[in-house]
Amino acid sequence: MTGPRPPRDSANHAPPPWRTVDEARTLILDAFQALTPVSTVLDAALGRVLAETVVARDNLPPFTNAAMDGYALLAVDTYGATSGAPTRLRVVGEIAAGAVSPATVRSGTAIRIMTGAPLPPGADAVVRFEETDDGRDTPGHVLIGRQATAGRNVRPAGEDVAAGTTVLSPGARLFPAEIGLLASLGHATIRTHPQPRIAILATGDEVVPHTTTPGPGQIRDSNGPTLAALVRQAGGVTVDLGIARDTTNDLRTRLSGAAAAGADLILTVGGVSVGDYDLVKQVLRADGRIELWQVRIKPGKPLAFGWLGETPLIGLPGNPVAALVAFHQFVRPAILTMLGRSDLTLPTIHARLMELITNPGGRRHFVRVQVRPDPDGVTPRYTAHLAGPPGAGRLSSLIAANGLLILPEDRAAAEPGDIFQVQMPDWDLG
Ligand code: AMP
Ligand code: MG
Repeated sequence: MTGPRPPRDSANHAPPPWRTVDEARTLILDAFQALTPVSTVLDAALGRVLAETVVARDNLPPFTNAAMDGYALLAVDTYGATSGAPTRLRVVGEIAAGAVSPATVRSGTAIRIMTGAPLPPGADAVVRFEETDDGRDTPGHVLIGRQATAGRNVRPAGEDVAAGTTVLSPGARLFPAEIGLLASLGHATIRTHPQPRIAILATGDEVVPHTTTPGPGQIRDSNGPTLAALVRQAGGVTVDLGIARDTTNDLRTRLSGAAAAGADLILTVGGVSVGDYDLVKQVLRADGRIELWQVRIKPGKPLAFGWLGETPLIGLPGNPVAALVAFHQFVRPAILTMLGRSDLTLPTIHARLMELITNPGGRRHFVRVQVRPDPDGVTPRYTAHLAGPPGAGRLSSLIAANGLLILPEDRAAAEPGDIFQVQMPDWDLG
């Protein structure tokens, strides 16, 4: 590093008040709102949040049709028919799906029909092939071996959705079934909240791209790729700002790329602690506005939030575990808010802790645990086991873990058998 050593944070500024996780979350989320809706092709709408009311323009199904392969007929003609004493009807035609009836069904006649084909005029029921002889006895005729009531095996027009019905409302999440419904109603595009663009900047003189071989004292960037994956998992689009050296100049140059790329949020990782080269806060303070930089959270109390011009910036701690935990608590809900989602909490379960944990210092501790189903458990149905050794830098402990157990700030210790809430970040429950 060239130039003078940056001043220690504490040398120039009074220590800021610590915020609780809930306060920090509220403060951060206040800065975000759903992005302005855009027209979205149906193919790109999966997972998005609808920003309009959808009223069915058509009936679904659009016409009355056969629900089974069989014979379309008049139900009254079949009264009293059984397999032993079948009714004989004259076959006056055949309708495949996609075709339109060539004839009308009158008393004493039937039309051979395939599933999905429009019910011919006159007919009011369909009897399945299996309940007929399918014309084997007398050519041109069919023996009907069961009595049918009107409407049997018939799907009336509008039975699924009647034209004029409101089928989806603003705020609805578009899952595969919603996409199918919109397609049936002929929507090529739909208004949704767009995916936010999240600029990601890794920092650190020791950090090099993961595609290169680190030199002495260097490490590969793991946070950049992890955060990019987390952003995509949450529904955002990433903008890669690379890796900044620990100089205010390089930080400024790279951060300026965020506005140019139209980022809705900047994520930095590293450089928000109180080390000599932790410059993110200084740049934020000098060039923008800083609103937060310490949270009562473990792992990872350094967390910056502020603004660079119009763009909000969340500065995550550099330790990989702390970065991931902080992402789930503060960044994911911000991304979901921009997507128009109102369900901001991670899937959360209750689990019985199987080990002893201490939590001095009054911070909310997100403990990496492995949650397992408990075959004997009724409430809760899960047990939670510590995943790997503690330490905010251990990525391997995140592989062993599938949950983050929440030890509240007022719990200095937890005993085996105690029940806690556990966040399950990879349980994608929509
Ligand atoms: P910092 O918050 O910059 O003090 O970094 C805390 C720790 O996380 C240090 O050991 C860094 O080397 C490490 N670290 C910071 N950024 C990254 C990154 N992008 N990839 C992997 N490790 C990192
Ligand atoms: Mg650093």
